[in-house]
Amino acid sequence: MGQLRMSALIDSYGRKHRDLRVSLTDRCSLRCTYCMPHDFSDWLKSEHLLNTDELMTVISAGVNEGIEEIRLTGGEPLLRNDIVEIVSRIASLPNAPKLSLTTNGLKLVELARPLADAGLERINVSLDTLQRDRFTALTHRDRIHDVFAGLAAAREAGLAPIKINSVLLKDINDDEAPALLAWAMSEGFSIRFIEQMPLDAGGIWDRSTMVTAGAVLASLSVDFDLTPVPDRGSSPAEEFYIDGTKQTVGIIASVSQPFCGACDRLRLTSDGQLRSCLFSLDEMDLRKVLRDPSLSSEEITQEISSRFHKSVAGKLPGHGINDPSFIQPRRPMSAIGG
Ligand code: SAM
Ligand code: SF4
Repeated sequence: MGQLRMSALIDSYGRKHRDLRVSLTDRCSLRCTYCMPHDFSDWLKSEHLLNTDELMTVISAGVNEGIEEIRLTGGEPLLRNDIVEIVSRIASLPNAPKLSLTTNGLKLVELARPLADAGLERINVSLDTLQRDRFTALTHRDRIHDVFAGLAAAREAGLAPIKINSVLLKDINDDEAPALLAWAMSEGFSIRFIEQMPLDAGGIWDRSTMVTAGAVLASLSVDFDLTPVPDRGSSPAEEFYIDGTKQTVGIIASVSQPFCGACDRLRLTSDGQLRSCLFSLDEMDLRKVLRDPSLSSEEITQEISSRFHKSVAGKLPGHGINDPSFIQPRRPMSAIGG
């Protein structure tokens, strides 16, 4: 019997939710300073992580309720042993959503081809510097060569487009925006610069030292002629054409110019909590439903679908980072899924 579809996931501010970010694990092979301290050890309990079947129950319910795009993330999603199976099962869903993945790239040499064969279309790789010593200082791991090799493997496997995510930190790599853009253009990658957000496990975020979108734009504009691309839609990135070409660069000004009014995202944590915003203080517990022995599989699906709607109904108009009453969520980015 087919599932009964409720109305679309529209919140009380008229925003239609189409995009689900799925965190597959909070664990990671790097320790980016703006994400987690080098000695971080406050991991989620492994028995709380959703298994492959549980994940698919939630994702299928979301797709049935109107989710059209899934991004797999983490922590580092390629650390999941079942990553290829997850991709394959999502790609095989009826009404299969657009599927992409955000990774630090370290395991792409071995996984890019199996992921592409399993149905992965697009990939985002995070890289904040082109310099080995800076990479090691920023991530506490001497592994920049694995990222470059992973990017080559992704291209070889036909994953396209390949997008690069970069976070700039004052006095560490904030002089590197033009070099990163020139490199991305020469490699055929598209790059987005993301403002550092107050979501790190170590609580090091400081508004006064954050590299703003305006500063990134000014720095890029010394070397490049940038023209805004019209019609941003629900994209968090403001895109700019480069030097009169069709190539673009994105700048994500989550803090200095929030774009909450166009938000179409929900987030699932790896321990099965549904969040309507990166900065939510509330979560909808889906794991409890998935593991409730008194419910049939049909009842589980119905209750999960209903919780998608409840989560959307309770979504606030904005993240409030710039309000004096802002409270940083208890969960860091690595546990929510960036
Ligand atoms: N490990 C994968 C990676 O690094 O691509 C996926 C998870 S990571 C949390 C997703 C994205 O979030 C990365 O591009 C990372 O740079 C970004 N990120 C992490 N902490 C952030 C912060 N405090 N502010 C802004 N972006 C952050
Ligand atoms: Fe790991 Fe990604 Fe966080 Fe860096 S940003 S520590 S790669 S989860």
